[in-house]
Formats: sequence, C-alpha cells, structure tokens
Amino acid sequence: KEQHLRKPDWLKIKLNTNDEYKGLKKLMREKNLHTVCEEARCPNIHECWGERRTATMMILGSVCTRACRFCAVKTGLPNELDLAEPERVADSVAIMNLKHVVITMVARDDLKDGGAQVLAETVRAIRRKSPLTSVEVLPSDLGGLEENLQILMDAKPDILNHNIETVRRLTPRVRARAKYERSLEFLRLAKEMQPDIPTKSSLMIGLGETEEEIIEVMDDLRANDVDIMTIGQYLQPTKKHLSVKKYYSPIEFGKLRKIAMEKGFKHCEAGPLVRSSYHADEQVNEATKA
Ligand code: SF4
Ligand code: SF4
Repeated sequence: KEQHLRKPDWLKIKLNTNDEYKGLKKLMREKNLHTVCEEARCPNIHECWGERRTATMMILGSVCTRACRFCAVKTGLPNELDLAEPERVADSVAIMNLKHVVITMVARDDLKDGGAQVLAETVRAIRRKSPLTSVEVLPSDLGGLEENLQILMDAKPDILNHNIETVRRLTPRVRARAKYERSLEFLRLAKEMQPDIPTKSSLMIGLGETEEEIIEVMDDLRANDVDIMTIGQYLQPTKKHLSVKKYYSPIEFGKLRKIAMEKGFKHCEAGPLVRSSYHADEQVNEATKA
C-alpha cells in the first residue's frame, strides 16, 4: 500500500472569493467554456483571475482522448468538433478584458490535425478582438506531426508552451500516450519554424524523480532552445491519481530556479504553487528581450 504524505503548511492556502472571480465564473458558464483554472482546481485562481487578469481556457471540448495519470480532465469519447468555439473564446477574452490568456486543449487523437486548426483559429480570433492581449498556446503534441505544428505556428502566438511534465524515466508511467523525446522534438521544431516566438515548458515534481533527473530535463530543454521553464509541485487531484512521493520546500524550489537560470533559461518560475501558466503575463516581455 502506498504511503500517504501529509500536506505541508505552505500548500494550505486560503481562498478568498472576490467579485471579479465570481463574475468571470458566471461568464464561463454562459459561454459554455472550460477553464483549466477551475477543472484543475488551481490554487492560484483568485490571484490570476483577479489581480493579474490571466486565465487558461481549454478548447476542443472537456473530454480528453488520453488519460495521463496526474491529470484531472475527464477522459473518454471526445466532444463533437465545435467550429464556433474560436469566436466564443475570443468574445470571452474581450469581455474579461484579459491581459494574458493561455489557450490549451484536450488531446484530440481522433482528429487528423490533432486540433491544430481550431487552436490556430482561436489565436487569430483573439488577436482580432483583443489586439493588446498576449496569447500563449499550450497544445498537446498534436499527434507529433510537423504539419500540425506548422498550422499553429503560422498563427503566431506570443508564447508556444508545451509541457514536458515529468522526467524521462517517469514519462511512460505518468503520461503513457506521450513521449519524452517527442515533446523535445516538438519544442525544437517550434523554435525552428518561428525563431522569434519564445518557447516554454513545465515540469511537475514530487512524482519520485531525483535531482539529477530534474537537471537532465533542464539540460534537455536548453539543448532544444527552450526559453522559459516552470517547475511546480505535483498535487494529487483525486485518490485515483498518482500519489505524491515528495513535497519540495520553497527553499528547494529556490535552488532549482537558480540552477535553471544558470543553465541559460530567460525566465524560470519555480515554487510549490507554480503552474504552467502562473505569472505567465510577466514572461512575455522578459522572454522577448534580447
Ligand atoms: Fe489558471 Fe494557470 Fe492561473 Fe492556475 S496558474 S489560475 S491554471 S491561469
Ligand atoms: Fe490531461 Fe492533457 Fe493528458 Fe489529456 S493529454 S489527460 S488533458 S494532461
């Protein structure tokens, strides 16, 4: 039987529900949109939706064709393709007056383009309606096909984010249908297609990896020209998901951040509550600085 670790104090945070947050929540339901902020029960939701005016929206439905063992998104048969979704997302971004938006997606292994076209359309629709909002995309590996990535890069997002999620050794266990090398290749190709667009990747720790393995991820990302890295604590969404093997302290995260910056990342966020999209609004300018 797996041992159950107690949650340390730095992860027990108070949620204060401000009006801004309530308003945005209502809007999401009216527009039939899904946010990762809500589905992943992200602890930063009040800070992001309130002060920072950042949100992460999930498109192409709320059901994923994969079933990664850390992820709270439902899996099963995918939703019907909704071609009006890009405009609806763009309308909401405008109403929410977002400064930065992250558009992510469930994996759509059922679609030939992996969902690239709808994602690219969404970027364009947001640009038209909210030219001042920075747009970060966080796609799946789009089936690992280069032409699908090209469709997306042609829409010129402000940041291309693709998460490596875990160290090489644990990838088959943690995200069975993805591949460590394929994710690196995806990031490398994105940079090759649009050298001016910053690339980014996130790692969750606490799944049983060693420090050497974390450093190997940093080296692998840098070897593929990734500009921004985020490192956060894995939290078990439900009892059915992988259990937490270790809670890293804020000091340990600080050390990892320092190592990452020494490896040459332009920006690194690392901390117990850091998520892929945490403080993403700050990274746009920093990563594009020469
Ligand atoms: Fe949403 Fe990301 Fe902020 Fe969490 S960190 S609330 S997922 S934008
Ligand atoms: Fe969750 Fe993404 Fe894995 Fe689907 S592909 S289960 S959305 S992490």
